Amino acid sequence: MSVLIYIESANNKIKKSAYEVASYASAIAEKLSTSVTATVIGDVENSEIMSLAKYGVSKAVHVNNDKLKNFANQAYASVIAEIAKKEQANVIVLSNSLSGKALAPRIAIKLNAGIVDGALALPEINADKFIVRKTAFSSKAFAYVELSSAIKVISLNPNAYEIVKKAVDLTIEAYNPEVRDRDLKAVIKEISQVSNKVSLADADIVVSAGRGLKGPENWGMIEELANLLGAATACSKPVSDAGWRPHSEHVGQTGLAISPNLYIAIGISGAIQHLAGVSSSKTIVVINKDPEAPFFKVADYGIIGDAFEIVPKIIQELKSLKA
Ligand code: FAD
Repeated sequence: MSVLIYIESANNKIKKSAYEVASYASAIAEKLSTSVTATVIGDVENSEIMSLAKYGVSKAVHVNNDKLKNFANQAYASVIAEIAKKEQANVIVLSNSLSGKALAPRIAIKLNAGIVDGALALPEINADKFIVRKTAFSSKAFAYVELSSAIKVISLNPNAYEIVKKAVDLTIEAYNPEVRDRDLKAVIKEISQVSNKVSLADADIVVSAGRGLKGPENWGMIEELANLLGAATACSKPVSDAGWRPHSEHVGQTGLAISPNLYIAIGISGAIQHLAGVSSSKTIVVINKDPEAPFFKVADYGIIGDAFEIVPKIIQELKSLKA
């Protein structure tokens, strides 16, 4: 019995969400009196993998195969499922990121496991019960899902669980599984990152704007605010539909679902379809000139006023703080 996690990396560096997954899995392992094994796929240096020892991971299985250089959901799922069998893992934890969303159900099918996607908190584990809390109905409610299968797959929402240090000894084992060509039908060939911008899916802080901004020519101040905060930029659906911003920035029910620590919504009304993708953000700040805008109902902090006056003032203040 063990807890297996999948470690996501980008540019040979382990992602922050993977440390969240390690911390979460380590707490589960403690409750189950077992240990955490990590699966690392790709060209990640041993020194980088060793950093997992600070977060309760006692073994890392490193798969460095040329065929798996680029993300391929079937092939990665097969490898992780194989390692899960090899390690006799009964709990498998991934991040509920874009790749985690592709992997978790495939792994669950391969292992005949029960699955909870988008977990928000540690499972309640007592006697024979294993219950995981997640959001339901586009974040309007919580669901408590009981996993009664022998093997359980959980994908953890980014920013839902804090990174907790727990130092252990870590051993790294190299593993070179056979990769079947039929598992390589869909492979990501290239990831083009626009300049050095923060990735929206992983961002801690997101500055988002809507139709209240009037036109694409007014996004300079949104970009500037995002740069000063080290934030990613996002937008509402009509904004991307109109071509003011790329579709990759569209958040909501039909766009990307995100849960940053801080979501700043500027000139966005807060329609339910928009809230569906952002309401699990830890802190929500809304800037809107209409005091009746529905977004204020879910905001932690609200500023009623004209974005064209308020945003430049925030920028000025941040610049003076940095000077
Ligand atoms: P608006 O509703 O036009 O709101 C603009 C806001 O800006 C208003 O509240 C206004 O008071 C404020 N404002 C105007 N001027 C200023 C100013 N100078 N300063 C400050 N505030 C100002 N939407 C999404 O975002 N994501 C989705 O995934 C999504 N999926 C959908 C799926 C379906 C099936 C459907 C039917 C709709 C979906 N929508 C989605 C659309 C959604 O219903 C709303 O129409 C949309 O979110 C509104 O975008 P908005 O808030 O930018 O624009």
